[in-house]
Amino acid sequence: MKNARYLLLPLAFALLQSCAANLSYSGSPFKKSMESITADELKTHLYIVAADDMEGRDTGSEGQKKAGRYLIEQYQKMGVSHPKSMTSYYQTVPSEAMKGRRGNLPQSENILAFVEGSEKPEEIIVVSAHYDHVGIKNGEVYNGADDDGSGTVALLEMAEAFQMAKKSGHGPKRSILFLHVTGEEHGLLGSKYYADNPIFPMANTVADLNIDMIGRCDAENCGKEYVYVIGSEMLSTDLKKISEQANKETVNLELNYKYDDPNDKDRLYYRSDHYNFAKNGVPVIFYFDGIHEDYHKPTDTPDRIDYKALQKRTQLVFATAWELANRKDRIVVDKK
Ligand SMILES: [Zn+2]
Repeated sequence: MKNARYLLLPLAFALLQSCAANLSYSGSPFKKSMESITADELKTHLYIVAADDMEGRDTGSEGQKKAGRYLIEQYQKMGVSHPKSMTSYYQTVPSEAMKGRRGNLPQSENILAFVEGSEKPEEIIVVSAHYDHVGIKNGEVYNGADDDGSGTVALLEMAEAFQMAKKSGHGPKRSILFLHVTGEEHGLLGSKYYADNPIFPMANTVADLNIDMIGRCDAENCGKEYVYVIGSEMLSTDLKKISEQANKETVNLELNYKYDDPNDKDRLYYRSDHYNFAKNGVPVIFYFDGIHEDYHKPTDTPDRIDYKALQKRTQLVFATAWELANRKDRIVVDKK
């Protein structure tokens, strides 16, 4: 008989490994789904969503509505429906709720797509991005490819990936809501309307992963594989850990926490749609690439996007959502 010590060593090693690694990322359903998020498909969608004929997707404009119809067509093609309690993908945001910094805006729409969870369907992970932009000024189209065409198409690719997993019998245990909000550019109006009139109770909303600009780099970071991560530790210690592990086991980007401070002078924690969830006690992460030279300029065009970076950042959000949806226990809110 062999010395037992030698038998125990490999066992101990295997145990150690399984503690360090998250097994849900090593399975082929996850890998296949994550790999279905490709730079090419993101590019195809973005060249359409940020094309000149979407007229800069001004809030409430025909151009924005046209972009919205494109999103819905994509969800229909992949077999992803709207929440069951709704009669369409649209949550109408009435003009009275659209009081912007420059006065009243026309009625507009949030767009909601939904992949129902298999075990805890009432618990919701929200993945959000705004699909409006600033329109046409002095005859120039502001395409908003990065802001926030990049987040908009990231949602399409993630929905497709979750739907693929679901079709193979490995769908998420909790539900995923893909929330395309309107009115961000005028003061986070669409997400505020959703938070005030939620389709699923805020108390059942586990987290909001919000994407606003993930296809470019800022002057400080160009050449690096990075993303700014904001707010992940604000309400839940679990969430930051999950985010870091998801990153480590998949795309391994540099997670930059420079803006991750509510007292930061740029106040980014308050400046995109996740804040309307955070203020209701829902843990959030905001993914962002930084302020670059084409921010809110007509030169924010799809040819200037780094599609490989867009792919990796989308995959990171996907991996994080996957864990939030599939882990045994819902993450805990342990901070105020
Ligand atoms: Zn934006």
